[in-house]
Amino acid sequence: MTMAGAAGPVDAVREAHRAAARWPYAELDPAALRATGWTPTPFREFVLKVHQRCNLACDYCYVYEQADQSWRDRPRAMSEEIRRAAAAAIGRHAEEHGLTRVRVILHGGEPLLYGPRRLGELAAELRAAVPDGCVVEIGMQTNGVRLTEATVAVLREHDVKCGVSVDGTQRDHDRHRKFRNGEGSFTAVRNGLELLLRPENRTLYAGLLCTVSPDIDPVETFEQLAKFEPPVIDFLLPHANHESRPWLPPGASPTAYGEWLVKAFDHWYFGKPRQDAPRVRLFEDVMRLVLKGRSGSEQIGLSPSALLVIETDGAIEQVDALKSAYQGAAFTGLDVTRDAFDAAFDDPGVAARQIGLRALSDTCLSCRFHPVCGGGHYAHRYAPGAGFKNPSVYCEDLRLLIEHIHRRLEADIQRLLAMGEP
Ligand code: SF4
Repeated sequence: MTMAGAAGPVDAVREAHRAAARWPYAELDPAALRATGWTPTPFREFVLKVHQRCNLACDYCYVYEQADQSWRDRPRAMSEEIRRAAAAAIGRHAEEHGLTRVRVILHGGEPLLYGPRRLGELAAELRAAVPDGCVVEIGMQTNGVRLTEATVAVLREHDVKCGVSVDGTQRDHDRHRKFRNGEGSFTAVRNGLELLLRPENRTLYAGLLCTVSPDIDPVETFEQLAKFEPPVIDFLLPHANHESRPWLPPGASPTAYGEWLVKAFDHWYFGKPRQDAPRVRLFEDVMRLVLKGRSGSEQIGLSPSALLVIETDGAIEQVDALKSAYQGAAFTGLDVTRDAFDAAFDDPGVAARQIGLRALSDTCLSCRFHPVCGGGHYAHRYAPGAGFKNPSVYCEDLRLLIEHIHRRLEADIQRLLAMGEP
């Protein structure tokens, strides 16, 4: 897809989007939304793609194995010029919107391929760029295999926290998360995690990210992850949509993902109480939403997305998971060396992820679970041509999980109320 032209990069990008996703690109007008009272949410989370390549070849990776292949045309690593432009743009955005906290996630490919020296310089540039009184939390999502003592020392010096991807037991992890020579990466990741578990590094350890697979055991998976003592576990549904449907093993139940999550929830919720039990973000989000609170993640709920991505070439993009939908699905046509982040408020795709109920399909709006579910992850709603105003391709799985957690909480609240009776 060519993104440049006489009309300018932003117009060319929107034109290309219209063919692939009528909603929001042909049907949602951010200017009209503003005229009727919608106020954009300032961006508070920035994903910096510091290195485009990865030292693993995981078979489900949305960057390399799914619809969008734009990584092929980008520089391998973020240049000093782009890095400084990104830091300056984040600083200006924080200043203009009076932000007191922003989060920056270093991502890839594999962010540790950027090297400790450049990671340290970037962290210092980011903190120097924001106005006084604004805190920059810096984290990274890494595959963990390049966590060495020297690297961790630099991360500690610059307070860069690490989330690490682990898919359960060694057997299950090594099936998908392999080096290019076909060898599994579990042993290398475990060595990296052992470094993070040292007392002097504990504050750097942000948690584990695990991609759910219906052919592995949820209890065994949870127990393996818990052995690494993460402060929090993120269970991630594999990115899929109404065209590329979720993989199911032969003979599996159509709600195998939901059933997996229900079993994992029960094991976590009813497991023997232990002081160091990890939090599980998805389960806590559903519980919070059932109790009329807010969600803290993209997977569920109606909270406005306040996240933008900056690619190695300076392109400002939407959330990476969209790359599982179609070629160019995350493009905005904006560039951090030229455009302010506020320009993204005019992108129908960005607006769609900030307008809550107005982004839901009629099916979702008439569904009793929608205040909790929020239609599921935006990327999982995609259908070719029609776009993103559809129920999640994981709809039935989400119903199963939400209803199950709702019933568990209701039963416990009733029990507590009964105990409190005179
Ligand atoms: S995705 Fe399904 S469960 Fe979620 S709100 Fe829509 S219809 Fe309801």
